[in-house]
Amino acid sequence: MTSLKASTIRIGRRYRPNRLDPNYDAVVIGSGMGGLTTAALLSDLGWKVCVLEQHYTAGGYTHSYDRNGYEWDVGVHYIGDVGTRTRTRLMFDFLTAGKLKWAAMDDEYDRFYIGDRVYSAIAGKQQFRDNLVARFPKEEEAIGRYMQLLDQVGKSMSVYSVSRLLKPWQRFLAWPYLKLKIPALLFRNTYEVLSELTGDQDLIAVLCGQWGDMGLPPRRSAFMVHAMIARHYMFGGYYPIGGSWNIADMIIPKIRKAGGEVFTYAPVKRIVIEGKKVAGVEMADGHRIDCSCVISSAGVENTFSRLLPAKSVTRAGYDHLLKRVKPSMAHLGVYIGLKETAEQLGLPKTNFWIYPENDFDSAVDGFMDDPQAPFPVVYISFPSAKDPDYERRRPGTATIEIVAPAPFQWFEKWQGTTWGKRGDDYEAFKAQLGDRLMQHLYEKLPQLKGRVDYFEVSTPLSTGHFCAYNYGELYGLDHDPVRLQQTWLGPRTRFRGLWLTGQDVLTCGVTGAMMAGLLTTASIIGVRKSSVLLKRIFDPNNNQ
Ligand SMILES: Cc1cc2nc3c(=O)[nH]c(=O)nc-3n(C[C@H](O)[C@H](O)[C@H](O)COP(=O)(O)OP(=O)(O)OC[C@H]3O[C@@H](n4cnc5c(N)ncnc54)[C@H](O)[C@@H]3O)c2cc1C
Repeated sequence: MTSLKASTIRIGRRYRPNRLDPNYDAVVIGSGMGGLTTAALLSDLGWKVCVLEQHYTAGGYTHSYDRNGYEWDVGVHYIGDVGTRTRTRLMFDFLTAGKLKWAAMDDEYDRFYIGDRVYSAIAGKQQFRDNLVARFPKEEEAIGRYMQLLDQVGKSMSVYSVSRLLKPWQRFLAWPYLKLKIPALLFRNTYEVLSELTGDQDLIAVLCGQWGDMGLPPRRSAFMVHAMIARHYMFGGYYPIGGSWNIADMIIPKIRKAGGEVFTYAPVKRIVIEGKKVAGVEMADGHRIDCSCVISSAGVENTFSRLLPAKSVTRAGYDHLLKRVKPSMAHLGVYIGLKETAEQLGLPKTNFWIYPENDFDSAVDGFMDDPQAPFPVVYISFPSAKDPDYERRRPGTATIEIVAPAPFQWFEKWQGTTWGKRGDDYEAFKAQLGDRLMQHLYEKLPQLKGRVDYFEVSTPLSTGHFCAYNYGELYGLDHDPVRLQQTWLGPRTRFRGLWLTGQDVLTCGVTGAMMAGLLTTASIIGVRKSSVLLKRIFDPNNNQ
């Protein structure tokens, strides 16, 4: 195979020990949305923060890359709740000083192909509901009840999130209140909840048509996350203008303004624990950065199984707790380039979700056991069509991205080989999977046949290499009901001065990781300072 050219999209500053400041107020491991949010909020309060990122560019799953004249995002296809001045939007505005702009997708933001039937999710609460009722007229009552359940989950989400801030004794005292405000519904299985509303399997499938946004089909996921995702996109999908790499690029100035920095090529080897306290981090090159406040945004699996000393993990009782959570599923990505514009090619601003049938769980089971079975879901996204700035940056071209599940185990035998040089058998397996995914694209958009200029396939090993998820996890920990009830999954750890943030603290998604960043900051600075900060972020008159 011909060697792949390295991407030129690089943000952050290359790490060198002599570029470090002798004293930081906090060290953040990982520059994903969780880490950058925490770093930027602390910087806003005057803290000097050092962010350490192992990749060649900052942003974690929000990073983008370019090759052969095309540009793709790896972990952002659409973000909800940013069309008006919602809390999500105010947070993004605060972090990026209002510089990050958003482009709305089509009103039909998601389209679901289920067998030979086609359904849509339409922006706007009423429109969403009316569209469903028009397709399932006999299920009007069930749809109404479903909308009420979404509201019920929505109302309890802030209590659920804030409960993550509590120390064990505070949680004990607050238990009767928490029990009242966080209904058991949140932790029930999605399929069970929906099947009590309706027996129509196609309706259940349409309601769960975004299961790929959290990586678990309905019989395995918690209703809380299902509802959060449905609510998140209900007012439409939005794309960060200029590409998802702009998110990090526009947050970093806030960190630098306070004297901090985001270092790339900066793998942390170990978190240094002395007694029960954090003392700093040791870099892969052996350099030690002393700091009494370390925030890990590298994910629970990395933090507890790789970065912390095993003895300390066991002594603090985390070895038992870790048995209650498991990594989320891994994925394949196909990154496609075409030498015509999205407009010329007729590409939509709508995501496609393609399912072989309406029993999503059975389809996943069948596929995990047999690589030749139909893909249980194929997701297709059209970034250049969504981005009004794409044509200026990459004139006369268009891009498409495909995502589909793929178990890490299929690729395990190539673990330890070098990226770009994993061998012919790996390339052949990848090509075969990639070709099958391309067939799904051609089936839905036959006009693209013969017009694709370039495509490449990523596997769970690519995710491990670039994003440091060792099992190629799409979304950190699995979002099953057990995980969501783990009260230890919060910002606070059992080591003084060590904090967690990112998608494992609350839920996945760019917004989930961003809100985790806010929670972690609040935990670190305490109630009084947090209320001032919250006012600055969410009071529209004080914003920026
Ligand atoms: C294919 C795909 C599509 C997605 N689509 C969407 C979408 O459309 N909308 C949406 O909202 N969300 C989407 N997501 C999810 C979303 O991108 C993530 O949930 C979110 O960005 C996670 O942020 P994070 O900060 O928790 O973690 P990450 O972004 O993963 O950041 C963690 C960082 O830690 C670094 N790190 C790990 N170990 C070390 C170490 N030892 N030293 C230094 N650095 C280290 C990693 O390199 C990484 O950069 C998608 C994800 C994927 C994979």
